[in-house]
Amino acid sequence: MDMDFDAVIVGAGFAGMYMLHRLRQGGFSARVLETGKGVGGTWYWNRYPGARCDVESVQYSYQFSPELEQEWEWTERYATQPEILRYANHVADRFDLRRDIQFETRVTRATFDEQENLWIIETGAGERLVSRFVVTAMGCLSSPNTPKIPGLSEFRGPTYHTGSWPHEGVDFSGRTVGMIGTGSSAIQSIPLIARQAEHLTVFQRTANYTVPAHNAPLAPDYVRQVKADYREMRARAKTKPAGIDFDINWASAVETSEAERARVFETRWAYGGLGFIASFADLLLNDQSNKTAADFVRAKIREIVRDPRTAEILSPRNIIGCKRLCVDTGYWETFNRPNVTLVDIGDEPIERITPSGLRAKGSDYDFDCLVLATGFDAMTGALLNVDFRGRRGIALNEAWRDGPKTYLGLTVAGFPNLFTITGPGSPSVLTNMLPSIEQHVEWIADCLEAMRTRGQTVIEATGPAQEAWVHEVGNSASITLRATCSSWYVGANIPGKPRVFMPYIGGLPAYIAACEEVVAGSYKGFAFS
Ligand code: FAD
Ligand code: NAP
Repeated sequence: MDMDFDAVIVGAGFAGMYMLHRLRQGGFSARVLETGKGVGGTWYWNRYPGARCDVESVQYSYQFSPELEQEWEWTERYATQPEILRYANHVADRFDLRRDIQFETRVTRATFDEQENLWIIETGAGERLVSRFVVTAMGCLSSPNTPKIPGLSEFRGPTYHTGSWPHEGVDFSGRTVGMIGTGSSAIQSIPLIARQAEHLTVFQRTANYTVPAHNAPLAPDYVRQVKADYREMRARAKTKPAGIDFDINWASAVETSEAERARVFETRWAYGGLGFIASFADLLLNDQSNKTAADFVRAKIREIVRDPRTAEILSPRNIIGCKRLCVDTGYWETFNRPNVTLVDIGDEPIERITPSGLRAKGSDYDFDCLVLATGFDAMTGALLNVDFRGRRGIALNEAWRDGPKTYLGLTVAGFPNLFTITGPGSPSVLTNMLPSIEQHVEWIADCLEAMRTRGQTVIEATGPAQEAWVHEVGNSASITLRATCSSWYVGANIPGKPRVFMPYIGGLPAYIAACEEVVAGSYKGFAFS
């Protein structure tokens, strides 16, 4: 069998783009296969109104090229989707990536040939490529979840999913809109859709916590200062569990006086952003501490939302930070608008979608357009959409029947020469994803270079090493409150998905140390041939 490339990379988001660049630098031949017509992944698909990053742009950006860091100018504290997509396109041009990316190509199947130690990759168009390695860069949040609500296909008007929004945009002027979901995508888009639409009805299953972004244009002086400090800032970020350079208050919320606690929460609320959850070190460890933060946000909702009943419905009752914390611009305020209605569907599922709207709790709601802000089959969805076959033809679906099992979130026992960027079992979605992606890409590229030097062609995680890592991932999850609620982190949003806390919660520094220790131990836990 002739080998077409050293590596096939699946996906051309930030992970696939950098993987291609690094492999080329290492002298490997590589081809990226991407379903979309362009680069950017998340930022190519999620074009709903209000889509932005929730990690500040100066941090939500690549750090592998100091030149790129210096030449790119972020214009806002939290860049919009179009700006982030422009950045992705700039990177693709600057590093001449497109010539090795094949767009409009969906990988459907990949089979490891044990005789030849090669992967055979098949695409939706029937193409077949052969490579030594496969690197998945398919995204943790890239497989949109369309809930199986009866009648969905009978709706007369257009239906939009936030995760695959029309490229030409949607004009809601003069239209009535129904939106299902109140996660991050909904929380970002609701204020903008409400401003444009004649009427917006929001169907909320679970109330969510969100903190204000206080987004603003970046002052040139601030940008200059960041650029001068970039190396130090990136280094500081790598010492933080979430890979974000913000201050963590190491005090305990319950051991702090009420007045001081209120002061800390107010200060963080006024600053805005995800740093709110670092107001105290034990917010995600101790439910009494957590309650102090949750009470603070609930009081803010009551302060902002004028109708007490609406405020009550909007007030989350679960652990703050258990589901991913949201960052918003004018979310609570939007429910004061006369053209916005909130419908609580927490206690009963939507009965059905009707041709003119939906039916819930015995009432009919009519609207012209339906928006599904219903999230993703996170972390494993995109991977399991491909029929990966490892040794003895075993399917990844089968190997992960009880939940994903990986070694370091980077490799899977029984699937030689397959690498999974930000795979389950790595910190990924609990961190600023850009540094996590870069760390994985560099680890994989270094590994391939080491193998070439040693004359090895096959790498595979051993079963015991994988078991020990899966144990470590489960153990670290059990000490936090994060694993206690029905979030997508545990697969709870997808009926029938095994309930396993999928990301590694031990923090980025501990994770990087674990990866480095494996390398220092001559790739401990891997078998080579
Ligand atoms: P993606 O960007 O998801 O790219 C994966 C690519 O793989 C896609 O283009 C997809 O089409 C392609 N693909 C998948 N399957 C196949 C297949 N079978 N064949 C071919 N191609 C395939 N993270 C943060 O850290 N900070 C943020 O502020 C932040 N904001 C976000 C906002 C939204 C709306 C969403 C959905 C996610 C956000 N994230 C954020 C997470 C975000 O996904 C990552 O930050 C990052 O963009 C992931 O890059 P990636 O390359 O790993 O995956
Ligand atoms: P999400 O957080 O999973 O939210 C989906 C919403 O849809 C939830 O409110 C969920 O309710 C609801 N839902 C799902 N199925 C439903 C059904 N059958 N009936 C009624 N309601 C249903 O998805 P998301 O908002 O797209 O965000 C996913 C992740 O992407 C985020 O957590 C974040 O990591 C990332 N993201 C980031 C940003 C950002 O600010 N930069 C923006 C968007 C997304 P339940 O809660 O009850 O399940």
